[in-house]
Amino acid sequence: MSKKIHVTDTILRDAHQSLLATRMRTEDMLPICDKLDKVGYWSLEVWGGATFDACVRFLKEDPWERLRKLRAALPNTRLQMLLRGQNLLGYRHYSDDVVKAFVAKAAVNGIDVFRIFDAMNDVRNLRVAIEAVKAAGKHAQGTIAYTTSPVHTIEAFVKQAKQMEAMGCDSVAIKDMAGLLTPFATGELVKALKAEQSLPVFIHSHDTAGLAAMCQLKAVENGADHIDTAISSFAWGTSHPGTESMVAALKGSEFDTGLDLELLQEIGLYFYAVRKKYHQFESEFTAVDTRVQVNQVPGGMISNLANQLKEQGALNRMNEVLAEIPRVREDLGFPPLVTPTSQIVGTQAFFNVLAGERYKTITNEVKLYLQGGYGKAPGVVNEQLRRQAIGSEEVIDVRPADLLKPEMAKLRADIGALARCEEDVLTFAMFPDIGRKFLEEREAGTLTPEVLLPIPEAGAVASHSGEGVPTEFVIDVHGETYRVDITGVGVKAEGKRHFYLSIDGMPEEVVFEPLNEFVGGGGSKRKQASAPGHVSTTMPGNIVDVLVKEGDMVKTGQAVLITEAMKMETEVQAGIAGKVVAIHVAKGDRVTPGEILIEIEG
Ligand code: MN
Repeated sequence: MSKKIHVTDTILRDAHQSLLATRMRTEDMLPICDKLDKVGYWSLEVWGGATFDACVRFLKEDPWERLRKLRAALPNTRLQMLLRGQNLLGYRHYSDDVVKAFVAKAAVNGIDVFRIFDAMNDVRNLRVAIEAVKAAGKHAQGTIAYTTSPVHTIEAFVKQAKQMEAMGCDSVAIKDMAGLLTPFATGELVKALKAEQSLPVFIHSHDTAGLAAMCQLKAVENGADHIDTAISSFAWGTSHPGTESMVAALKGSEFDTGLDLELLQEIGLYFYAVRKKYHQFESEFTAVDTRVQVNQVPGGMISNLANQLKEQGALNRMNEVLAEIPRVREDLGFPPLVTPTSQIVGTQAFFNVLAGERYKTITNEVKLYLQGGYGKAPGVVNEQLRRQAIGSEEVIDVRPADLLKPEMAKLRADIGALARCEEDVLTFAMFPDIGRKFLEEREAGTLTPEVLLPIPEAGAVASHSGEGVPTEFVIDVHGETYRVDITGVGVKAEGKRHFYLSIDGMPEEVVFEPLNEFVGGGGSKRKQASAPGHVSTTMPGNIVDVLVKEGDMVKTGQAVLITEAMKMETEVQAGIAGKVVAIHVAKGDRVTPGEILIEIEG
């Protein structure tokens, strides 16, 4: 008896998201669509939160327009997207009317298959999206966000799959975003899922630890129906097993995919050239990294934390943070580490280590989490921590979106005439700041995509000046990679020196003061804190809000500022009781650790 295994290629979404910071442009997708459409894939994954974000933020493409173009160019292939349940493509819970409007428009513009997940695996956060997909007559795929913990047993995952089946899903996916699956664990899980529920089982596993192809083989042997792959030039490491490799591996067996290996190789060659075009966005580390199998921390999270620690000059504390992450995760009831919980857990662990005291600072996101604002935690949360974080405030035990009023009308009013259609309103809803900026620039005719650097010749190395001093740098800031060339150095005048740089090809002039007078990354003139009444932060970040004004009387421990670092908001408290005598910051300011931001006189 033979059973055809279905294949989804992730080349147009997850593959370039995992390897090239999601930068592939529509112009590099369309020329190969004719061939992609002939392969006979079950589906092509083309859309998700990061692709939408990158289109609007960096590529200055309308993501809806991309979808319509792909729809037209791929008439015979299902188009698939990844949807974060009630969060849709954003980072917060949306009201049900936004979820319904978004799903309906995604379906109309070309999506056939919606893979729907929730970071907590709280199925209540999937329900409205599933209903909306079914109402649009499309394929709703319920997703298990895979992780390991004492509460993430096979029984728990099977229970979740059965709930999603009862909610009307057409299939179930195991989403192993971190590469945590091992071959035999995969086999056991798939076997149980096939035995106890009737939906087809899809397997999506990242090859981070070098195990994904083995996991897929075990999954297939145990009854999985469907595998996610990436064309070979965008495969392996933090991406997925190579399409051609999996097709070859199963060829001639009872699990033959039936796909044409020669045609796939032509496609692989095409994308080989495309990948070179985006060389400046290659992640520093995209090869196999087995660390996730030891500390459970996904690779992407490790590199983010390393960047943050580097900023603090505290890279040597990486191991402490890696040891703290599982402890924070346990306190929070073992959430899977995926957007947004990976950021919530990682940042709190970072604070716990750098502040020298656990939970001395608690981020607002952790507070909201402990309050039930993201849904129900998979395990039991640390009750003492919860009380410390939320005080006497009530815990939400309903579905978080039950507390939200309809918001489409308000979103339409807020964006006004900048929105030419309902899709534009939804772009604004997903990304309020960059979405508005995109629509404004489109209106003004000033949309400018970021600059692509020329492809370096084979064997070329970064150039150096005559004295052997490097003049070209690749710099990572907050996960963004910039190419900086020093193009000239001016004379020193009045204690300052002018440097002429190009950043990603754009000329910049920078004036540096001598190092010993140089305070802070932003060239800030604030003095260093030296008294108990000097309020400062422990992290570089931005001021989100100033909660007091000069003359106010404050109590010890009263929140006086809200700062934002690593996408997380934190309250900064008064160290002493007294009168606010000076405020040296305003909303939006960039601050560095140790600066006096507010002065309090006791
Ligand atoms: Mn993925």
